[in-house]
Amino acid sequence: MIRLIQQNLFLGIVIGVLIIVISTYVVNKNKKESEGTIVREFYGLGTIIRLRVDGRNGERAIQEAMDRLNVIENKMSVYKEFSEVSMINKNAGVSSQGVSTDTYFVIKKTVEYSRLSEGTFDPTIRPIVSLWRIGSDNPRIPSKSEITNNLKLVNYEDIILDERNHSIGLKHENQAIDVGGIAKGYAADEVRKVFENCKIKSALIDLGGNIYALGTKPDNTLWNVGIQNPSDTRGEHIGVISVENKSVVTSGNYERYFTKEGKIYHHIIDPKTGYPSESEIISSTIISDHSIDGDGLSTGGYIMGLEKSIKLIESLKGIDAIFITKSKEVYVTSGIKNNFKITNTQFTYKDSL
Ligand code: ADP
Ligand code: MG
Repeated sequence: MIRLIQQNLFLGIVIGVLIIVISTYVVNKNKKESEGTIVREFYGLGTIIRLRVDGRNGERAIQEAMDRLNVIENKMSVYKEFSEVSMINKNAGVSSQGVSTDTYFVIKKTVEYSRLSEGTFDPTIRPIVSLWRIGSDNPRIPSKSEITNNLKLVNYEDIILDERNHSIGLKHENQAIDVGGIAKGYAADEVRKVFENCKIKSALIDLGGNIYALGTKPDNTLWNVGIQNPSDTRGEHIGVISVENKSVVTSGNYERYFTKEGKIYHHIIDPKTGYPSESEIISSTIISDHSIDGDGLSTGGYIMGLEKSIKLIESLKGIDAIFITKSKEVYVTSGIKNNFKITNTQFTYKDSL
């Protein structure tokens, strides 16, 4: 009898311990998933990159993303002497250059966006960008004759794309390609692919303001992306857009610029004039499924001017925009009206021209 009681007691204790162990494991597992946010900040593609990942493969996902970003930078940076883009530029007017699938895809896209934006986006802008040296330690205002001479070299129609041989060339000597206006968008799309392969369900990819919001936040609510106040250098927002699985890319005059005699010279160049764009738009945000589309269109949209830009974006399915003008008006296209809120009362909401 006593033995039987002892046996039952023993069994009871074992079961009790098991219940405690299993329930602790379940609680910890859930905790791990909800607290498993990893944020990594580093420098790459000429900007500050911030990756925020939730999920069990977070560390691996971030490492793989960093490797992928490195590969893209090595292929496309004009600041790397032997990148594929630099090799195309060195051989301009002489021969075409065999390139990787990455570079071929990006340059092909740049030509698409040049056409769509009526040449306001033009990747052959490099000879002008190098005159201004904006974003470097010693920017300068080029002379009128330097600009006139180098403007002759700017023409995206002179990019020779050979799909069969996967090669790219430029028609004339001294012409040069700059994918700075689109490469971060492509890179964001590639990081998203890496994360999805690692089964990440929730992440925020921020490549210097070029944002892709993967899934929802870990608490299943939408990501809130702030639209920076273009007339404020402290990084304040004028409004917030709530998104899920979307890219949000902004081109603004506040990212890279210099001031001389009270005038601001920024890094988005109008290919018609060779000078920083003077349209009424001072910030152009594109919301799209693919970040490469957002990046190409945000630069082009900035230069095209309000009327043309709104018309273009409204004509493209699944793509929306927020344009801020010099007079603090905020124009929002039809697809995102319900997801965008102005938070700064100095700015006026406009939903049509
Ligand atoms: P950011 O690099 O600040 O995100 P953008 O995507 O608008 O901004 O790209 C600006 C960069 O694109 C410039 O630094 C320059 O390298 C390049 N660029 C400047 N003007 C043009 C243009 N009209 N078309 C294509 N690229 C441009
Ligand atoms: Mg861009």
